[in-house]
Amino acid sequence: MALVNEHYLKLSDNYLFADIAKKVNAYKVSHPKAKVISLGIGDVTRPLVPAVIEAMHKAVDEMGSKASFRGYGPERGYDFLREAIIKNDYLPRGIHLDPGEIFINDGAKSDTGNIGDIVRWDNSIGMTDPIYPVYIDSNVMCGRAGTFENGSWSNVNYMPCTAENGFVPTIPDHRVDMIYLCYPNNPTGTVLSKEELRKWVNYALRNDTLILYDAAYEAFIREEGIPHSIYEIKGARKCAIEFRSYSKTAGFTGVRCGYTVIPKDLTAATIDGTRRIALNHLWDRRQSTKFNGTSYISQRAAEAIYTPEGKAQTKAVIDYYMDNATLMYNELTDMGFKVFGGRNAPYLWVQTPDNTSSWKFFDQLLYSASIVCTPGVGFGPSGEGYVRLTSFGEREDCEEAMRRIREWMQC
Ligand SMILES: *Cc1c(COP(=O)(O)O)cnc(C)c1O
Repeated sequence: MALVNEHYLKLSDNYLFADIAKKVNAYKVSHPKAKVISLGIGDVTRPLVPAVIEAMHKAVDEMGSKASFRGYGPERGYDFLREAIIKNDYLPRGIHLDPGEIFINDGAKSDTGNIGDIVRWDNSIGMTDPIYPVYIDSNVMCGRAGTFENGSWSNVNYMPCTAENGFVPTIPDHRVDMIYLCYPNNPTGTVLSKEELRKWVNYALRNDTLILYDAAYEAFIREEGIPHSIYEIKGARKCAIEFRSYSKTAGFTGVRCGYTVIPKDLTAATIDGTRRIALNHLWDRRQSTKFNGTSYISQRAAEAIYTPEGKAQTKAVIDYYMDNATLMYNELTDMGFKVFGGRNAPYLWVQTPDNTSSWKFFDQLLYSASIVCTPGVGFGPSGEGYVRLTSFGEREDCEEAMRRIREWMQC
């Protein structure tokens, strides 16, 4: 008799975005004339830039000719891409990486979800709250999150990030084995200064903690002095894995390509404490068994982002989204809302007025202004009392949405 992995049964079925879709559909049925604007979309909307399209066409043609056809590629990714990453994403920030420290993947979700394979199932974990749900759910699947009691997981140390602490998580006063950090943050759009990130690296070095650093939104950072990579902090090579993705940076949500950095000096202990094992080696072993590489076409597409044209074109798209963010940030602040994020990330985290619950405010916004947002509580208990707006939409829709909210506020 085959038995199921019972940890999966602990996962909650009601997925946030399915609940939202259900409510929006009900609204559309009862208000057939309403033009609904979604500020809840977590996907990019601008098309791929010309430099990427050109590179993909060329790669497709290569695949169609016997002389240049490519079959299985290296599991860690092609050198042309790993070298472009080192040269463009890290060297200019004074970070020296070796190609063997970079693992090309099919997007950051896979690796942030799978990385737990190479560490013990009973490590304790710490997460900022609210947070990207993949981190928790992937730990639930192997039993590492413990059991769900009174709205939280028993083996997860939640580090609340709210207006009260300026969205700076408090460093635990005890040892936690693994810590997930995501900066710029999804869903709050907030960032950590170099000083704050340094405190985390020092905590990790003191406590032998592994930091899992998700920098998927690094390209949206606009302010000086905000770290783009955790390796800008001295000592991070010994305690941190970094995840990057082209999904938001270059509109690759449908193309699929990203990468993970595991420095060669990063190690973790065996349970008896007698040996230190290189995580780079373990991940390589895991990937060569369970992953057969990202498509050649996707990797050529990613490489094209680093050409002068590719850089300028992707920057223009990011600027478009960030101009949306600025527009919404200024308008909402002017209307009296308390708005966080939105300056170094495509997300705005809006505090609901008068302590309204996330879902109640969601309904109000939908029924008064035909606007869809994402209830903050869907990202964790500390998200209650907030909603997330994204700047991935059309400029005209952002403007129209702001007009509608202003009208609603005035009546
Ligand atoms: C969108 C997103 C990613 C990227 O996911 P891909 O699998 O690369 O598309 C990673 N982390 C966070 C927090 C995200 O929001």
